[in-house]
Amino acid sequence: MLIDTHCHVDPGYFPEGADAVLDRARAVGVGAFVVIGVGEDLGPAKFAAELADRLPDVWSTAGVHPHDAIVLDDAMEAEIERMAALPRLCAIGEIGLDYHYMRSPKEKQQEVFRRLIALAVRVNKPIVVHTREAPEDTLNILEEEGASRVGGIIHCFSEDRPFAERALKLGFDISFSGIVTFKNAKAIHDVAVWAPADRILVETDSPYLAPIPMRGKRCEPAYVVHTARRVAELRGDDFDAFVARTGENAKRRLGLA
Ligand SMILES: [Zn+2]
Ligand SMILES: [Zn+2]
Repeated sequence: MLIDTHCHVDPGYFPEGADAVLDRARAVGVGAFVVIGVGEDLGPAKFAAELADRLPDVWSTAGVHPHDAIVLDDAMEAEIERMAALPRLCAIGEIGLDYHYMRSPKEKQQEVFRRLIALAVRVNKPIVVHTREAPEDTLNILEEEGASRVGGIIHCFSEDRPFAERALKLGFDISFSGIVTFKNAKAIHDVAVWAPADRILVETDSPYLAPIPMRGKRCEPAYVVHTARRVAELRGDDFDAFVARTGENAKRRLGLA
């Protein structure tokens, strides 16, 4: 089954509504969706949880994106922990570090990342990790906080093979986004060819980073087909076999049943 393991479908991105967006993806064979619940408050997490409650092919997450790290307080953390008990909330995330935009100070990002890894361990759910321009700090914090107890996903993989090797050892699978379809993404192509078949996933990270041939458009879950085709092609895999394998990987990693 083709699964978009990471999409944002909030009304702010898709004024036409999530149902229309997901229907377009179902029409091209996407069988399940992990809708990420992050934002400046818990509105997107609640929106994702409501979708997952209503639609049998949707699962949700809740977390605090590193951009928004400054908003986390004790009350918000307690609410995320309460939401984590929802049966169709499959992971804590996305959480991590983003030193590119630095919308929250580095120290705050690190503190919040550590707090939410600890939360994921307490509730025993896997973690969806966002990392940009912070490879060493991300891996060190995952190690120091014992994140391998729950494992998870390095989403929108945009690092290199040494990073992937360490992440895999820590129990984190590699999820490829539209970036892997870009011609100049050589280090990511290398990882796509090399990574173990049972440790890879695909995603859109909609509404961002539309894959070729949709590059420049608003990205949406239907486009995960293009990313899956490109990764299968790089690996020399049969497309249907690749879809079946990565679908099983996502179900196992995220406990989708
Ligand atoms: Zn991200
Ligand atoms: Zn995301």
